[in-house]
Amino acid sequence: MPGPNHAHLAVLKLSDPAVAAARRTLLEGGRLTQEEGVRLFDSPVLELGRLADACARDRHGDRVYFTVNRQLNPTNVCVLSCRFCDYAKKPGAPDAYTMTKEQILAHVDPEIHEIHIVGGLHDKWRFDDYLDVIRWVKERKPGLQVKAYTAVEVDFFCRLTKKPAEWVLEELRKAGLDALPGGGAEVFSERVRRELFHQKIGGHRWLEIHEIAHRMGIPSNATLLYGHIETRAERVQHMILLRELEDRAPGFLAFIPLAFQPGATGIVRRQASAIEDLKTIALSRLVFDNVPHVKSYWVMLGQDTASVALNFGASDLDGTIGQEKIAHAALARSPVGMAEEAMVQAIREAGKIPVQRDALYHVVRTYDAGGAADGGATAATAGAAPGAGAR
Ligand code: SF4
Repeated sequence: MPGPNHAHLAVLKLSDPAVAAARRTLLEGGRLTQEEGVRLFDSPVLELGRLADACARDRHGDRVYFTVNRQLNPTNVCVLSCRFCDYAKKPGAPDAYTMTKEQILAHVDPEIHEIHIVGGLHDKWRFDDYLDVIRWVKERKPGLQVKAYTAVEVDFFCRLTKKPAEWVLEELRKAGLDALPGGGAEVFSERVRRELFHQKIGGHRWLEIHEIAHRMGIPSNATLLYGHIETRAERVQHMILLRELEDRAPGFLAFIPLAFQPGATGIVRRQASAIEDLKTIALSRLVFDNVPHVKSYWVMLGQDTASVALNFGASDLDGTIGQEKIAHAALARSPVGMAEEAMVQAIREAGKIPVQRDALYHVVRTYDAGGAADGGATAATAGAAPGAGAR
């Protein structure tokens, strides 16, 4: 399904034949195939970026969204051992931690609109302990939107309780869950799963849990972990499987390409190049004609590339985050948090209009193009992503 209009796409002039062909396909309401997506990776990055930027502008104008949020990682104790993960620790390890209620509640800052909760699969925690984390933050700040627990954690809860995903998701919702984060998808390739995370759920189960959530009216995000041993074909296949899920059961708010942080994993020597990052963001915008936002996740891209990506199809810079632990355990070079002013500045430097949102893309505040906030704290759905307010 095409975006809201094609005004920018219609007037765009491109010189690269493959990118120009992709523009014609999109303008005619067609979709990129996996083969076309893979071929486009070999196109000049600036041409790809111009096409993706036109698609983003046709959806969102010059608006780029961000949220004032905190990331809460209640424990790094995990019963699994994914090869690419520098975050998880075995029970009893000297650097293993499990937060107390007070430590958890210390993350509920008065100014945040969203809390993003993910962590390890703890060997001693019961499902109720995970529910308590949501209940506590909701009690402390009832209006706070809770985006919590990846499909990997939801599947773990199903095994802990011996209940189906529908039941687990309903209990999470009753505790105060508003949306599921997109993590744990990695890349939907059995080859990669066998090599890097054979104990963890595969693509089939991840997609199944998100489809159930969407059918229950719980929105979610979707991620792709790239820049390790996956091929470009596997990257595009992953996007197409997500696009098909969104066709069957709409509910994705954003697609988030995550640049793999090599850290001390030894899987690859260095992070993907900025060119590869920008091509992956641009390709995502071109493939996902049915997902409102592509996110430039500054924690993994670094602030500079994340800001440039706002002209390569990304329309969201994620959030201020507070103290991110997972990517930084893998030695991410970005700061552990970004202030609201720094987010606004990064968006303005990209020539875009900053819009502060909540977890469900309701507008909290729009900032004018070059100066102070316009004072319009609307907390309304006006300007929200198409369909997002209803999810
Ligand atoms: S990626 Fe998630 S499931 Fe895998 S070891 Fe790390 S915390 Fe555990």
